[in-house]
Amino acid sequence: MGQCDVLVIGGGPAGSTVSSLLSEKGWKVVLLEKDNHPRFHIGESLLPMSLPILDRLGVRGKVEKIGMIKRGAEFVSQYHNGSSATYYFKGARDKNHPYAFQVRRAEFDHILLNNSKDKGTNVLEGVCVTSVDLDSNGMCLITAENGDGKPIEWKARYVVDATGRDSFLAKKLGTRRSNRSHNTSAIYSHFKDVKRRQGDDEGNISIYWFEEGWFWMIPLSDGTMSVGAVCLPEYLQNCKKDLDQFLLDTISRSPDVSRRMQNARMTITTKATGNYSYYSDLLVGKNHILIGDAFAFIDPVFSSGVHLALTSATHAIDVIEATLNGIPKLPSIQREYERKSKHGLKTLSWFIYRITQPAMQNLFMAPRRNTFGIEEAVLSMLAGDLYGKNTVDFQLLLFKILYYINFCAQWKKNWTAYKHRRPKAKDNFSSSMSLPRFNLRLW
Ligand SMILES: Cc1cc2nc3c(=O)[nH]c(=O)nc-3n(C[C@H](O)[C@H](O)[C@H](O)COP(=O)(O)OP(=O)(O)OC[C@H]3O[C@@H](n4cnc5c(N)ncnc54)[C@H](O)[C@@H]3O)c2cc1C
Repeated sequence: MGQCDVLVIGGGPAGSTVSSLLSEKGWKVVLLEKDNHPRFHIGESLLPMSLPILDRLGVRGKVEKIGMIKRGAEFVSQYHNGSSATYYFKGARDKNHPYAFQVRRAEFDHILLNNSKDKGTNVLEGVCVTSVDLDSNGMCLITAENGDGKPIEWKARYVVDATGRDSFLAKKLGTRRSNRSHNTSAIYSHFKDVKRRQGDDEGNISIYWFEEGWFWMIPLSDGTMSVGAVCLPEYLQNCKKDLDQFLLDTISRSPDVSRRMQNARMTITTKATGNYSYYSDLLVGKNHILIGDAFAFIDPVFSSGVHLALTSATHAIDVIEATLNGIPKLPSIQREYERKSKHGLKTLSWFIYRITQPAMQNLFMAPRRNTFGIEEAVLSMLAGDLYGKNTVDFQLLLFKILYYINFCAQWKKNWTAYKHRRPKAKDNFSSSMSLPRFNLRLW
């Protein structure tokens, strides 16, 4: 049986980041990853405020080599005659990070995982964790299976759950809740020969609204375009034929997306992810912590998932070290971790829950030319500036007031859209009837 200070389950962006930073500080870290990298993963669009973290990890140069520069996000609305509005990150309050990258996740995640190996983490790939006992004579006992189905055991002082949407610990502890405020599904693939934007705009993400939700188009550096649709789960349940054809049919529902995809060829088989917004009541315990998607997942319309995973990993370091060092003010450090994690999610959630409302579409399609700093605030949020010194809470409040004015001005249209998107899905994950301690719902 192996022994270590910290055992990290999952080698995505969150797990690799926390491992690198802890190994750098001299802790004995083991990371168990069920797949063998490089492996496919969806989520190719990064945010500018992740770049300081890539610098801290020392991998920015490598990511730059595989990435496509993304200077902004374009929103296209068929409800506004197919017109578009592009939000450039250079207009955000923090002028130090005017761009981000679009990356193939297989390559990006591989860079981060190799970096944690270089920093001294003992990384074992093709090893799937099957059980965790959080109270085995004062230690955590982790059981895993390697590719041959052989069991392996580890004893660790601390366990980090970075298992992404598998949310291993939250499921085991019964704390994972389906997010009733916003539940959507996604269908996606990769294509060649999709028309790209020109010049400096080539790497921008495009978001298209359509009747059933919204599409993304993410240009990758080798000419591939990642294309996906996020829809209500009821829409995906209509899929009676093969997924490839269903995606093509869905694309044909948007004249603007179809125009760019007239000559497109699908290069990988289509994938779908159902019922996918959730959170865990539990974020941190006496010898364990949840980071990245293992804690919560919200709709990816603002490409925030990897950024939230990277930031939660950096924030978790303080809690893990305070626990290992037996620091008396640990409870306040844990509370601070919870506060930060929830603050980022809540800021984004308010916008995400309303993204398909006509009132929100009207505001996004008519940027305010920065009246009262509102556009700068929205851009800062889109850039992932959710935790730092550049607080834009007041300006975001003004945006919310504008939203409600817009909502009331066209209340019938907005109310109908709200009723349409209201989740009908049952809570698939919750086994306990207790009230969640933490609800992302804001109204
Ligand atoms: C449709 C869709 C589109 C998205 N688009 C974007 C986007 O454009 N931009 C963006 O930033 N984010 C996007 N995201 C979200 C993004 O993919 C995630 O937020 C991000 O990958 C989270 O990183 P993570 O490290 O927490 O989890 P993951 O990247 O999922 O990594 C978890 C790892 O844990 C491993 N694992 C799981 N269970 C076990 C186990 N029992 N034992 C060992 N290993 C295990 C998995 O194999 C995996 O490698 C999107 C998500 C979806 C569903």
